[in-house]
Amino acid sequence: MRLSRRYVLPHISTGDMLRAAVKARTALGLEARRYLDAGDLIPDKVVLAMIAARLDQDDTRTRGFLLDGFPRTVAQADGLDELLEPVSIDLVLDLVVPTGLVLARLVSRRVCEDCGAIYSTFAPPKLNWTCDFCGGDVVQREDDTEEAIKNRLGLYDSSTAPLIARYAALGKLVEVSGEGSPSDVADNLNAVIDAYQHGGGFFPPTPPEHS
Ligand code: AMP
Repeated sequence: MRLSRRYVLPHISTGDMLRAAVKARTALGLEARRYLDAGDLIPDKVVLAMIAARLDQDDTRTRGFLLDGFPRTVAQADGLDELLEPVSIDLVLDLVVPTGLVLARLVSRRVCEDCGAIYSTFAPPKLNWTCDFCGGDVVQREDDTEEAIKNRLGLYDSSTAPLIARYAALGKLVEVSGEGSPSDVADNLNAVIDAYQHGGGFFPPTPPEHS
């Protein structure tokens, strides 16, 4: 959320979209619920259709976009490539966090049911688990249980981690430390994106097209 505000980019989080569908009891939500609760991945076809519809909206064409939690499998990355042709994504940020810290963060995480703002048992909202931003209920996610978290981490290793090599080979991957406070992590991410935007350092600029 911080990134999308700073860079004025539409924030496209597949997890947020799926949770909203579950809450609204749409056909997608009814189908997705059991996957979400168990920490399983939603079938690629379903997620790709959702992303295709979202990327078809005007704001993404004019402003660009920030994908969060997608792609999570090789098939999703292939589907994304097809959707974006003839262009491709600019930058892939890999937040690197030790597993023990991921576990500690997830079990203590609390989220606003309405706007998705993130809190923790150590940094709760000011008033009675009511969101500071929108007044929504701040709750523990159904999939932030120990069992579902273990499942999600296993799926990350088997299905998502292979994407690191794919984007590294394309010169698009930057590893960013996800340790420290939320502002520390935001600072780390901002530094990488700013450097990218100003064409300095991390990536060779896209070569000019010759006619
Ligand atoms: P997140 O909010 O990104 O942690 O996602 C929460 C849950 O939504 C995941 O555990 C999956 O059940 C589902 N989900 C989110 N994004 C994807 C995706 N790209 N592919 C498959 N399932 C997803």
